[in-house]
Amino acid sequence: TLTQNDLSHVVEADKAHVWHHLLQHKALETSDPRIIVEGKGMRVWDQHGREFIDAVSGAVWTVNVGYGRRSIVDAMSEQLMKLNYFAGSAGSVPGALFAEKLIDKMPGMSRVYYTNSGSEANEKAFKMVRQIAHKRYGGRKHKILFRERDYHGGTIGAMSAGGQLERNLQYGPFAPGFVMVPHCLEYRAADQGWGDLSGEAYGERAANAIEEVILREGPDTVGALCLEPVTAGGGVIVPPVGYWQRVQEICRRYDILLHIDEVVCGVGRTGTHWFGYQHYGIEPDFVTMAKGVASGYAAIACCVTNERVFDLFKDDPSDPLNHFRDISTFGGCTAGPAAALENMRIIEDENLLENCTAMGDYMYESLGALADKHAVVGDVRGKGLFLGVELVADRDTKTPVSEAQVGATVAGCAAEGVIIGASNRSCPGLNNVLCLAPALISTRDDIDQIVDAVDKSLGKVFG
Ligand code: PLP
Repeated sequence: TLTQNDLSHVVEADKAHVWHHLLQHKALETSDPRIIVEGKGMRVWDQHGREFIDAVSGAVWTVNVGYGRRSIVDAMSEQLMKLNYFAGSAGSVPGALFAEKLIDKMPGMSRVYYTNSGSEANEKAFKMVRQIAHKRYGGRKHKILFRERDYHGGTIGAMSAGGQLERNLQYGPFAPGFVMVPHCLEYRAADQGWGDLSGEAYGERAANAIEEVILREGPDTVGALCLEPVTAGGGVIVPPVGYWQRVQEICRRYDILLHIDEVVCGVGRTGTHWFGYQHYGIEPDFVTMAKGVASGYAAIACCVTNERVFDLFKDDPSDPLNHFRDISTFGGCTAGPAAALENMRIIEDENLLENCTAMGDYMYESLGALADKHAVVGDVRGKGLFLGVELVADRDTKTPVSEAQVGATVAGCAAEGVIIGASNRSCPGLNNVLCLAPALISTRDDIDQIVDAVDKSLGKVFG
């Protein structure tokens, strides 16, 4: 165990040498970084021994089964002592067994390509789309459509498909051949000029907007459409009724591959089903996943395809350029699939998909009730334990509150002992959504404590 002196040293070392994700470091000239020292279940402790309920599963929707899971650590350490790593074109025991288990949960899909981050999993799918364009269409059907407010990662390729426009500022130029389609957030329909539409009519309009882009670009130039099933960091956007069915129809009509980015939604986060897309009965060609695959115990990500895609890469073995000539060094780490197998067993044995739905519904209702107390709550949305609260200064005009007010609300929750998140510099002028995604093991008591902290914090910041 670390003494208070050790921890003071850690803070100094961190301040002197660590470049934190997302942080404007000027802030650390007058304050200390938060160092999370320990976690157990839904709770974490910082360097001062302060306890927090983690309502965002490790800041970025990852620790789905909670902290301190001995059985995952045991599965990993056993595997690491046996064989920690081997890559290239060889397989591994946990790699084969996890792929089998995963595919069992994904009817219609058949192949798992291992890699180590969500960005990289998406890059693999993009590369496959580009190679298919070369193999089958003389390079022409190569464009990849992505949606405004969706995010697919921080690498330049993934950012080329980045619909969170504020995140992209100052990092261009990006890769060519990526084209944006409009978002599908009904609450903001008026900003799109579709304010008179709601429900299914809005869903159809938003999906038709994708078709309009395809027709404008030329269907013979469009290879794939990449979408989050429920948009995460762009403001927790649950697609409107009928949207997905129409999107699937459009992809089929124009022979466009459908790539679903399940990096956040995957492996239980949205409840009832293992994957977000399974709520909508759609049949993707690519499914990418990362965060919850091993709940953050190991870095593992997967690009999963159906057999139709896979077959295209083995149809002519006499051509040396025919197969997928790609490698991911850390896709060969065996701790990832070993942890992922045990993570999935826990979700099954503890009925966490069902718990996620039940607790998600309860949290949705509890957050919804805050709208009666706080005029600033404009919209509450989400699926499973994946919720967003959009804050507005005026409910009629839907003018967003300021980012400083959102920051103060997040800080206010931390002061109450609850860590929540917020859409962070993702959409110009619209970084006004509180993000809540506690672990799938949440109880009603946990949810009550989380919602109570949000209630108190909103009261302090907005009166
Ligand atoms: N896709 C989505 C939907 C994400 O939210 C993220 C990260 O937040 C990524 C991809 C990128 O994943 P990673 O940070 O593991 O590269």
